[in-house]
Amino acid sequence: MKELILEMEEYAKNENVPIMQKDGIAFLMKYIKANNIKNVLEIGSAIGYSAILMASSSQDVKVTTIERDETKYLECLKNVKKGGLESKINVVFQDALDLNLAEQSEYDLIFIDAAKGQYKKFFEKFKYFLAPNGAIITDNLKFHGYVGKSETIESKNLRQLVEKIEGYIDFLKTNEEFETKFYDVGDGLSISTRVNHEK
Ligand code: SAH
Ligand code: MG
Repeated sequence: MKELILEMEEYAKNENVPIMQKDGIAFLMKYIKANNIKNVLEIGSAIGYSAILMASSSQDVKVTTIERDETKYLECLKNVKKGGLESKINVVFQDALDLNLAEQSEYDLIFIDAAKGQYKKFFEKFKYFLAPNGAIITDNLKFHGYVGKSETIESKNLRQLVEKIEGYIDFLKTNEEFETKFYDVGDGLSISTRVNHEK
């Protein structure tokens, strides 16, 4: 397992795959253990790095992870098999915004780590599948330090993306249904939980 993780870190570095930073994934694994999380839904598998580490963080945790890019999906499947984790990780090849989850699906943790411009859409779609006491964790809220400085960014595409993340942060801060705490770990993480613990 350790070797597989190192191999994935190396692959991500060489192929520019934006996997979680080490302190970020350590934070997530600790959260899973401390809160007795059993079912995780991850949006954005990439090569399976965070899915594999989340699935390994406790004995009875299961991960469903969604990836829309075929090359990454196949790489993810390969890594899940290498790690012998087929029974704990379900990799779904689809755009998360097109996916129809079974109505009764319920997750203790929903981890949003896909297209940064669509965070609000992911949140609004998947909150219905969050267990009453579950949490939605979002990654990359600092976006390499650009967040909070969007007006100084020259590239229009980058600026618009960063503005979307800033908009998402405002959305979380002013959300009446969820309370959100922000953490300065990895590339910036947030944990959102329901104010009233009922759906
Ligand atoms: N969670 C991974 C990194 C994910 S990188 C890790 O830390 O190991 C983000 C991934 O989200 C990319 O592979 C990208 O293809 C995927 N993605 C982006 N938008 C998506 C969407 N709408 N549905 C599914 N996957 C998406
Ligand atoms: Mg990320």
